[in-house]
Amino acid sequence: MGNIKQILSELVRIDSVSSRSNVEIIEYLEGRCDALNLLTRRFPYVDEHGVEKINLIALTAETDEVELALVGHTDTVPYDPHWAEATNLTERDGKLYGRGSCDTKGFIAAALTAVEDVKITKPLALIFTADEEIGLRGAKQLAQAKPLRVRYSIVGEPTSLKPIRAGKGYSLAEVIVKGREAHSAYPALGASAVFRAARLINRLESIAEQLKQDQYDAFDPPFTTLNIGLINGGSAKNVLAGECRFTLEWRPIPIQPSEHVLELFKKAIEAEQQIDPGFECEVDANRQDTGFETSPDSPLIKLLENASGIKSGTVAFGTEAAQMMALGSEPVVIGPGDIREAHRTGEFVPVDELERCAEVLRQSIVQLCSP
Ligand SMILES: [Zn+2]
Repeated sequence: MGNIKQILSELVRIDSVSSRSNVEIIEYLEGRCDALNLLTRRFPYVDEHGVEKINLIALTAETDEVELALVGHTDTVPYDPHWAEATNLTERDGKLYGRGSCDTKGFIAAALTAVEDVKITKPLALIFTADEEIGLRGAKQLAQAKPLRVRYSIVGEPTSLKPIRAGKGYSLAEVIVKGREAHSAYPALGASAVFRAARLINRLESIAEQLKQDQYDAFDPPFTTLNIGLINGGSAKNVLAGECRFTLEWRPIPIQPSEHVLELFKKAIEAEQQIDPGFECEVDANRQDTGFETSPDSPLIKLLENASGIKSGTVAFGTEAAQMMALGSEPVVIGPGDIREAHRTGEFVPVDELERCAEVLRQSIVQLCSP
């Protein structure tokens, strides 16, 4: 276990902000996996900026079907260049500070430590992904390529070691409402895109109310939420706005397909067109990440609840669990550190949680892959 801080320190030293190539951290992980006698396979792709990204799968045996996969993302969110500890892991008062220490390099260090010295009889995989922080892109590549069938997966994210058995989805649509510009002294000569957008947004507020009827008790709040976080329209104070854009975001509960909100939204647009025949609107639904749900009776949930001593729960933030479902697995999300400490200067992971995580993972491997 003395090794775990060393591994985390080496991982944090490698700058793996999502905008950069993750080749360096993948090479490091390949070296660690080689030392553990794991077989590694690279799954490279080129992102939309032409930067090479790699997903790495390390296996205990030559196979395309595994009992358990431990999944960690290699990328991190950006950091303030004035934060000296960002790439120089620093221990203070039982905490390890550095970018990625809790999201999610701590989990990766724990996974590499947990695999050591376990005699494995059923195949195990370590899966290291790229681009999680910018839309789960690496995991989506794997979900599409399906290089592996997985029975159970443990996805690393900071949950303070609480096993997470369900997560909401995440969907986005860019909306452009069209109008017709005219001098504001003569509104009859044009059509204001801002007034049109406002009427449509009123309908979205009603949809948000309607969504509260489909309850899923495990979550707080227990229904699909929606938000218009950005809005922008018009060119001058005395011109009828020719265009108004807004961003619609919604977080569907797992029992509800992402398209449900989209269908309600399209009906709202049709209703506007009934009363305003000139109403014109483009909807680009460019992100539809589904949620996930694993039965509370799943053996993996029971196992992780016992090993961590913490009852399972749910989260409202996005994870790679849905992509691991696409590989056939029952996923659970768990990891050391608190999500509220991630994504900010001063990110840290408590040393005792880091070490307990390695122990939890080791017990999972022993019970599932070495019975
Ligand atoms: Zn993360």
